[in-house]
Amino acid sequence: MWPSFSLNRPLIWLGLAALAAASLLPLLTLRLVALVIVAIGMIDGWRQIRLEHQRRRLSEQALELSQDGMMITDAGNRILTVNPAFTQITGYTLDEIAGLDPSAFSAGRHDKAFYDRYWQTLQATGRWEGEIWNQRKHGDQYPEWLRVQACHDDKGRVSHYVGLFTDISRHKARERDLRRIGFEDPLTGLPNRRRLHDLLASRLRHLRAGEGLDLALIDIDGFKAINDGLGVDSGDRLLARFGQRLAAQVAGGIVGRLGGDEFMVIRTTTFDDHEKWVASLRQHLSEPFEIDGNSLRLGLTIGSCRAPEDGNDSGVLFQRLESALYSAKRHGRNHDRRFRPSLEVENDRQLAVINELRQALAQGSQLEVYYQTQHRLDDGELIGMEALLRWHHPEQGLILPNEFIPLAERHGLMPALGNWVIGQVVAQISIWRAQGLTAVPVWVNISALQLIQGDLEASLLSTLRQYRVPAQFLGLELTESVLLDERAGDISPRLEALRREGLQIAIDDFGTGYSSMAYLKRLPIDKLKLDREFIRALPHDHADAAITSAVLAMAQGLHLDVIAEGVETAEQRDFLLARGCRHVQGYLYARPQPASAVESRLRQATATVYP
Ligand code: C2E
Ligand code: MG
Ligand code: MG
Repeated sequence: MWPSFSLNRPLIWLGLAALAAASLLPLLTLRLVALVIVAIGMIDGWRQIRLEHQRRRLSEQALELSQDGMMITDAGNRILTVNPAFTQITGYTLDEIAGLDPSAFSAGRHDKAFYDRYWQTLQATGRWEGEIWNQRKHGDQYPEWLRVQACHDDKGRVSHYVGLFTDISRHKARERDLRRIGFEDPLTGLPNRRRLHDLLASRLRHLRAGEGLDLALIDIDGFKAINDGLGVDSGDRLLARFGQRLAAQVAGGIVGRLGGDEFMVIRTTTFDDHEKWVASLRQHLSEPFEIDGNSLRLGLTIGSCRAPEDGNDSGVLFQRLESALYSAKRHGRNHDRRFRPSLEVENDRQLAVINELRQALAQGSQLEVYYQTQHRLDDGELIGMEALLRWHHPEQGLILPNEFIPLAERHGLMPALGNWVIGQVVAQISIWRAQGLTAVPVWVNISALQLIQGDLEASLLSTLRQYRVPAQFLGLELTESVLLDERAGDISPRLEALRREGLQIAIDDFGTGYSSMAYLKRLPIDKLKLDREFIRALPHDHADAAITSAVLAMAQGLHLDVIAEGVETAEQRDFLLARGCRHVQGYLYARPQPASAVESRLRQATATVYP
């Protein structure tokens, strides 16, 4: 295309006039002057052409570089030119489409009214902008964001239309994904908690006379252990299969995943066979799952309820299902429990207790840390202490931690309560150190919820710093269930970091959980606390004797210290000593006592160490 140049520059006109005059002028000198003017006019004209050419090339290059597709049509809306991005997006080259009307690419998704509005706007305002669906050469449809501008000639008539567009199909797909993520569990493709709420509400609204809803909340027992044993990918596959099997079982019902290993099932029914229905779910799911060559038979804990008997509001039903599941869990694994109103009465009582505990924590005066000494088996020497929390209730007297710690955990009070204990213990250690009393580490029990909800590491280290207590005087007791709790994240690096600071780590109640020795080997820990349950019937119970001996032998192999807890008799002590156990804690040596009472013990120990 040869560029045009405008004739509205005076030098060009002057040159043209001089050209006409040059042939008419009589005098040679005048003719020469006219020719010089012609030359100047020509040079100016040439420069102008070059500038115009350059400008055009620049704008062509800019369009070539553009990621946006561009198309220019004439006044009759026939395609004149397109840029390379157009070809890239649509698949059409200019040769294939020159002269066509752009409506040839329409995906057929918009109706006539849409195009009428399009032309009306374009004619009225000279512009149109919006989303439009077109079709690529290879047939797939895509959305584009199109901006069209009408160009006018000198007389104000439309001469061209310039259209610029962006392919927004990827953006759209993301939007769709995001929308789906809001309602769908990405792992199983099942409805998520939010969606389940909506679906339940809708089912409740559409219940007809004589119909009811059966609802169940299913939790896979020990899923964390499966995840750790087989790996997260296999764990994910198991969850997906579990969801599929459940969905196949309750055709016409609703199956969703609430998160983790919790699934929910809802069915509309006219039968009054709730218990049978739950049993059939259990039976169907108890068939083994084949995952990576492993045949897994799962234990399930199920909480269930019925609507409208147990409530006709989706929020209330969710709550009741959860309290039924929680109650089933407290009964141990592989149990199911239907919601009973007494569960709620129990909940109310618990709420009253938790409020009192909250006040006790704010005041601090009803709570006290007791200390139970730990000893070396062969010579009885003091080697440490365990801090055990006590609540002196103004009416009920002494309440033991097993009664209120689970409540504190359930009601979000555990991080605060745990921090209170840590603060008390570290302050007490610093007092004893200031008094020159013998320094043995104090072991503090740490709940899973402190690791999940609170910033345990930061509060531990800042408390130690505040009281200038070296970290090796503090040990942490974590139960196996804490280590296996997926909500605490990957626990190993966290323990490793704490140990680097100098803190010691023990596994409490060892033997009651599900961790294998192989798993323990990978964990950065110092000590195992053999659970009291195994010690109780020693040495007469053969099974306990065998377990204790095996744990002691394995721990030796792993270079782990073992402390036996709950040692009450000399017989138990002798048995443990004979099996190579080195440390003990139990009523045989001392009961948990207030700090003041344990002090005399510390003085004795100091006297033996520094006579
Ligand atoms: P644990 O950590 O396994 O603590 C040992 C429990 O065994 C203590 O019960 C202790 O009093 C008891 N015990 C010790 N020696 C003997 C014995 O020879 N015979 C018998 N029968 N029992 C013995 P306690 O103080 O009632 O604590 C129960 C549980 O509460 C603890 O079990 C621990 O898991 C939890 N707990 C206590 N204090 C705290 C705390 O400050 N924070 C957290 N998160 N948990 C705590
Ligand atoms: Mg403990
Ligand atoms: Mg214990």
